Parts: sequence; C-alpha cells; structure tokens
Amino acid sequence: MSEMTSSQRLMATAMGKEPDRVPVFGVFIDWAWAQLYGKDSFLEYSDDPERLAECIIWGCKEMGVDSVGAFPDVCVTFEAIAEASGLSYPSLKWKDFIPTHPHRLYGGDPVKEPLYGNPLVHNLEEAKKLKPADPYKHGRMPILLKTIELANKALQGEWPVGGSCDAAIHVGGELMGWTQMFMAMEKDVEFWQTVQDVVVKTSCEFAKAQIKAGIAGFMSHSELPHKVGSEDFLKHPVWPEADHPAALFKKIWDEFQLDTTLHACSIGPFEPGFDVWKTYLDHCHSFFMPECGGADALARAKAELAPAMVMGNIDPVNVMLHGTPSDVEEACIELIQKCGPGGRFVLGPGCMVGLDTPVENIQTMINSVHKYGKYPIKSHPTSKRPSTG
Ligand SMILES: [Zn+2]
Repeated sequence: MSEMTSSQRLMATAMGKEPDRVPVFGVFIDWAWAQLYGKDSFLEYSDDPERLAECIIWGCKEMGVDSVGAFPDVCVTFEAIAEASGLSYPSLKWKDFIPTHPHRLYGGDPVKEPLYGNPLVHNLEEAKKLKPADPYKHGRMPILLKTIELANKALQGEWPVGGSCDAAIHVGGELMGWTQMFMAMEKDVEFWQTVQDVVVKTSCEFAKAQIKAGIAGFMSHSELPHKVGSEDFLKHPVWPEADHPAALFKKIWDEFQLDTTLHACSIGPFEPGFDVWKTYLDHCHSFFMPECGGADALARAKAELAPAMVMGNIDPVNVMLHGTPSDVEEACIELIQKCGPGGRFVLGPGCMVGLDTPVENIQTMINSVHKYGKYPIKSHPTSKRPSTG
C-alpha cells in the first residue's frame, strides 16, 4: 500500500480497517513548547497562537506524529467561566500569579473541613452567579481558535488537528474543589446541577466554535467509571450526566458526526470502567487509555470496547520519562503486536508526557511504527512484560 496521509491513516484506523501502518499520536503540546522555546518561556505558554500552532506543526511535520491536539492543559473551560463570571483566578496569566490560595499548603483535615482551600464557588448562591463563557471572548479559547486555524492552514488537511471538550465533573472540580463537588452531588444536588448547567452550556459553545475553526475531533476526560467501578457508577443517579453529559457528547456526534476520544486519566486500573463506556459506544468511538496493565490491558480494552478504537498506553513516567530508548522500543513493539492487528489502535503514551521527556524517547516511539507497525502485523503473543490486569 502506498503511504497514506496522517488524516487518511487515522480515519481508516477508526473505521476498523488496517491502514498502511499503525498511527502514532502525541499529547505533547507543552512538551513541544519546551523543546521549541525552552522551559523558561512557560510564563507565556499558550498566550500566543502563532507559537502554539508552531508546536502542533512541528510535532506533525518535524517529529512525525500523526496528530497533535490543540489543548494546552485542562484549565481552558474553567478559566473562561471564571472570567465570564467576573471571578479572579490565578492560572491564565502565570506572570501575574500571586499565590494567595492555600490549596497545596493546607495542613488541616479536609474530611472535617468542608471548605478547605479556597475554591471559587462555595455554595448555591455563588453558583447562581456563574455565567456561561463565550468562546470568542473569554479565557484562552480565542487563542486556541486562532491556533487551530493557523495549524490547519499549515497542515493542509494532511494531519488532523484535535480540539478539546470538557465534561461537567472536570470543570466542576476546578470551580468548586473536588471534595466539595462530590459532597454537593450527595447533599446539595441543586448546587451541583447549577454548576453543571453552566459548564455544559459553555462546553457546547466551545465545541461549536472549535468545529467552525476546523478541528477533526475532540479529546475529553472520563473521570469516574474506572475509579468507582461500573456497577456503582450506574447506580448513582447524578454521576453519568456529570462524567459524560449526553446533552454535550451525543449532541456533538448527532449534529456534526465528530468523534470524541475519551481519556480515562488514571495511574490505576481502567478495566472497571468498561461496562459504563460500552453504554457510550453509539456516539463515542475512541478511548485513550492510561498505562496500568500495559499492552495486555489495552488489548482487552480493544476487545471489550469494539468497535471503538483504542489509543495508548506507554507508561509516560517509567518508560517515556525515565526509560532508555530501548525500553521505549520494547514497550512499543509489545503494544503494536498485541493491539495492532485488525486496526483500531493508535500508539502513544498513556497520558501527557513530562516536559523533561528525552527527545530520543519520543523519536523512538515514532520510529517504532515505521519499523514494526507496517500492516499486515503478525501477532506475537510472547512478552517479557507480565500481565497485571
Ligand atoms: Zn491522563
């Protein structure tokens, strides 16, 4: 087969066909920024669409990944809602950051202290004052929209540019504090749902704006199913809409046929979430899995979550950051052999890679799909890595 473009390769993979080779992805826009502009430049990180777009373009064209997402970190929606609501928040402009919030220094017992730290939203009255954000006005979304347009122009459709779409639980945790959010879900559902409503409205508008700017799909998080277990999750009336609002993700699929890749962010096992994620399969067709359980766990995810595509799951710390290039290569070979046959697999790390990840390790990951990932791939069941699943 002649070489495909990255867009064609990822599309074929998602459709359950074997492309020319296994695609490889990088959730590494901040790592790319550190490579291009140095770690000292993080005071300006993601403030400049030209430089941010260059990270995506460089990752695709120079490093050789098949896609780099245009999501700088997990605070974009949270910051925009805070700004729209007239609340001060520290993380948008790091150079203006004044560390007055005691989150990380708190020395009390958070179980006894419902309002430990200092979240932006403490109660229903404050939640009622929250306003949905405008993607063209608030936080860094205007910068991201410009970034997406610039990257698309340079990549000319040969590489797909991914956007991001935040679920309610994620932004709720940032606005309310995670402990307080879970307490509200139990004891003050109106408080929680008032916040949820603002997040879902904002995320819908942010999604539409990114689609207009030309993204090819979304990345989002699923936080709870694997952590609490599918059975508990489905019994709890508030959690499904919080973790994965149908009003957002099903709508995106039904209206625009754009897929959302769900990242089950965790350093622990993800398999307890399978039964929940199976209920998402009518509108969600790719899952980006963390490293726990290695290639065997990802192969089981691919079987359980068929016909969805699975992405991952090289250990971002022990292999990508601290490992040698030969450790990276070994992990890639195992993943390609166990998850590659039949398509529906994209090689990559199990989460964002650290800023100090050696460039040789990223390059080894990318080279491995050229060396070992050409289809047809023979399955090799022998593995040095024991299954921990
Ligand atoms: Zn993660």
